[in-house]
Amino acid sequence: MNISVVIPLYNEEESLPELVEWIHRVMETHQLSYEIILIDDGSTDKSWSVIEQLKAKNESIKGIKFRRNYGKSAALNAAFEIVEGDVVITMDADLQDSPDEIPELYQMITQEGFDIVSGWKKVRYDSKWAKNIPSKFFNWTTRRMSKIKLHDFNCGLKAYRKEVVKTIEIYGDMHRYIPVIAKWAGFHKIGEKVVQHQKRKYGVSKFGWTRFVNGYLDLITISFVTRFGKKPMHFFGLLGSASFLLGGIIALVLIIQKLVAIGQHTIYRQVTDQPLFYIALLAMIIGMQLFLSGFIAELISRSSQDRNKYLVEKTL
Ligand code: UDP
Ligand code: MG
Repeated sequence: MNISVVIPLYNEEESLPELVEWIHRVMETHQLSYEIILIDDGSTDKSWSVIEQLKAKNESIKGIKFRRNYGKSAALNAAFEIVEGDVVITMDADLQDSPDEIPELYQMITQEGFDIVSGWKKVRYDSKWAKNIPSKFFNWTTRRMSKIKLHDFNCGLKAYRKEVVKTIEIYGDMHRYIPVIAKWAGFHKIGEKVVQHQKRKYGVSKFGWTRFVNGYLDLITISFVTRFGKKPMHFFGLLGSASFLLGGIIALVLIIQKLVAIGQHTIYRQVTDQPLFYIALLAMIIGMQLFLSGFIAELISRSSQDRNKYLVEKTL
């Protein structure tokens, strides 16, 4: 099979028939074999029965229904587990992304050798203050942090080599960072294509202002987990040892001062009267705790089964 089209949806009953019809038309014209995977992310409208009707008419459709709303990342992840096409295209269900882009995205993966091609909504039809400006800032920080040169990380329309989606795992709100996750998993050829963008035709946007807060928390998690997830001791152990050492040195200095004072029979104030003593104490206790946290995290990461999860690209 050439292409799997993956479409997560939450209360998008009006858009679905039009979208499926459009995709079918494009695939027929370009003679591409395909499947469409529709993931109903716990919709409360009639989306699922619409999917059932569509499936009765079109064999290429597969449906997944979540019991409740788990979010776009979970929906994508569930679909990625079952995709069969050589190239996987993700798109939003709200008709904001155009299926006419699919053949060219497919070309870029199969002919030009990209691992991922991300859409870029160069001209956007969303509200300026609620979306366009915050998203510029979001894209800028993500670009700086990941060193991936994309303009529009969160574009719903993307194409992947099948291997990519079978390798990565996304949860939380991490669908915004799939290129980043993929890059850290060793897929470096990441491209970009300017895509058409329309106004939302039916329904309303499913993400409110919390998208920004959650987005940044996820960015921190991702960078932290990928850097230290497999070796927590490198983070906690270092900080803990440094803190403990600092406390130890201060305490030692205080003790020596006291001993010298006793030796010279001069009057020296009580160690417990000195602020530095308490700082030393605190630094040692915190240091010890950081160290122990690191140690426990290390034990956990070692006993979790995927400790050997590295990817062999080829064998002979
Ligand atoms: N979506 C989803 N689960 C959610 C929220 C959204 O599957 O919890 C789907 C939604 O139905 C749409 C896509 O994700 O197909 C993008 O959502 P939306 O168009 O609301 O986002 P926006 O375009 O406003 O960024
Ligand atoms: Mg949308």
